[in-house]
Amino acid sequence: MKRTLFILIVLLLSVGILWGMKRNSPVVQTAHVSEDTPDVPQPVITKESFSIEEGETFASVMERMGYGYADMQEVLDAGKGIYDFTQIVLGKNFVIRKKDGVFDAIVYDINSEEQAVITKDSTGAFVVTKQDIPYDITEKEVHGVIDSSLFLAGNQAGLDDRTILELADIFTWEIDFATVIQKGDSFSLVYEERTRDGQRGPSGRIFAATFVNQGKEYTAVRFEDPDGGIGYYTKEGDSLQKPFLKAPLKFSRISSGYSTARFHPVIGRTTTHLAIDYAAPIGTPIMATGDGTVIRASWNGGYGNFIAIRHNDTWDTHYAHLSKYAVKAGNKVSQGDIIGYVGSTGWSTGPHVHYEMVKNGVKVNPLTVELPAGDPIKDEWRSSFEEQKKKYIDFFGDR
Ligand SMILES: [Zn+2]
Repeated sequence: MKRTLFILIVLLLSVGILWGMKRNSPVVQTAHVSEDTPDVPQPVITKESFSIEEGETFASVMERMGYGYADMQEVLDAGKGIYDFTQIVLGKNFVIRKKDGVFDAIVYDINSEEQAVITKDSTGAFVVTKQDIPYDITEKEVHGVIDSSLFLAGNQAGLDDRTILELADIFTWEIDFATVIQKGDSFSLVYEERTRDGQRGPSGRIFAATFVNQGKEYTAVRFEDPDGGIGYYTKEGDSLQKPFLKAPLKFSRISSGYSTARFHPVIGRTTTHLAIDYAAPIGTPIMATGDGTVIRASWNGGYGNFIAIRHNDTWDTHYAHLSKYAVKAGNKVSQGDIIGYVGSTGWSTGPHVHYEMVKNGVKVNPLTVELPAGDPIKDEWRSSFEEQKKKYIDFFGDR
């Protein structure tokens, strides 16, 4: 009896061990497992792409992917509040992903950062989620010298347009990229290069940068503060963000500077020009140079279509000769918001924006007026800032 029980226990244990082995490692042919073979075989992932063609609807793409009307309707319902599949864009793709030949998901890129993912739950019902696009990220350092334009130098250094614009944005409060960039100016930056399935994707964040303009060096470090704010600071910890942008247009040229006496071609006599004129094609977006409230967006004589923004008790800015308005009087605007578009209305000889800064009711020269600096790193964040900066010590170290 005792012996029978013993055998039974041994048998049960063996079954248990075997069961455990079976569950934990599907690969039991240990003889064939070499050191660099993972215990669990990776599923074979296949992807099939369906490009959205001219005149297509979500229903027709679904049909091409092998789904019927009921499936399409179910996905639309499952996507409510997450992504509206009736908004799909011509030329973009739906990708059916299979794992070992079994349906895993249908993926649609909403933009460069997010994708809508259609999966099935255990009951076989469609589920829609929004997910960050999974890029492979490598941190890259590049350097460029400007010969003719920032864009050209950036492209030659291997940067995409988006990163070049972002680089200009980081320094936009210190450097007026519309007017002061010179041959020989240079830049360096550490940024995220992102790839997906071996293809290069849009670049990601810029972590550190320097820009040398006319011999003067500017530095920038990205800092995410403990409250979730993200900003760029000099390597000393001063904010790069000023209450005003240097110019209301991103890229343009000055066609008329600030002057207390100039000959006005339209009115035919000498007058003052207490503003800066930036020439740019009709329709170029005009940005609010600072946070504030629109106090006027209407015709104003020789100014043509005109916008005035009150920023605070001290400061106003004016924008004239617009072709179109993007705001109304009473609207609150943030720095960089598009308020209207370049035109040639009023006393104007060609498309440009006439930009005035008014300090305590007096027009001042936007190019030379001393602007208040942004807040430096808060004392309680200083150690966290120094910690984040440490990663780029070599980057800043050799400059
Ligand atoms: Zn003007």
